[in-house]
Amino acid sequence: MILDKTSLSDPVEKKIAWARGCHENFGEALLKEERISRLVLDLKAAVYTSRREMALTGVVDICRRCDREEGGSCCGAGLENRYDGWMLLINLLMGVRLPETRAGEKDCFFLSKNGCILTARHVICINYLCERITRLIEPGAIRAMRDMEGREINILFFLHEEMKRVLRRWTRP
Ligand code: SF4
Ligand code: SF4
Repeated sequence: MILDKTSLSDPVEKKIAWARGCHENFGEALLKEERISRLVLDLKAAVYTSRREMALTGVVDICRRCDREEGGSCCGAGLENRYDGWMLLINLLMGVRLPETRAGEKDCFFLSKNGCILTARHVICINYLCERITRLIEPGAIRAMRDMEGREINILFFLHEEMKRVLRRWTRP
């Protein structure tokens, strides 16, 4: 089977359709690949740990207040364009249900009323901390959070590369 082409500049709906097509055709087989399934499990654990750390340090509460009470969420429309089809495929492999439409006109395509729906997120989304956060949270706590995020980003990189390698091998014309 030949894999359709997808590029970062495609509209998000097209990248989602591409990721869904790959998931339907290869999702099960990809998860049977030992290295991929291990990286998926490692990524789930790393995401869980770094989000728990974000909650413990108070970042989650600050962002919730900012978003709900002050209209200041930083997840604006256009940020979804940073995601390529591979990242969306990783999310599908992790059990995420990608949206059909944008919930809020000014919001990122992946923002729901309960926050970001993605499990595997772009390094920009993982790393971003605004001035308010760096002012309110202790530097030591931010460093601990950064360490955990670093692990998440590393695993994501290896998973991304491994999936491309395997899928290209399977679909080479
Ligand atoms: S990172 Fe800053 S701007 Fe973004 S939601 Fe949190 S507090 Fe608000
Ligand atoms: S964190 Fe999620 S909702 Fe926010 S910009 Fe990134 S992908 Fe979009």
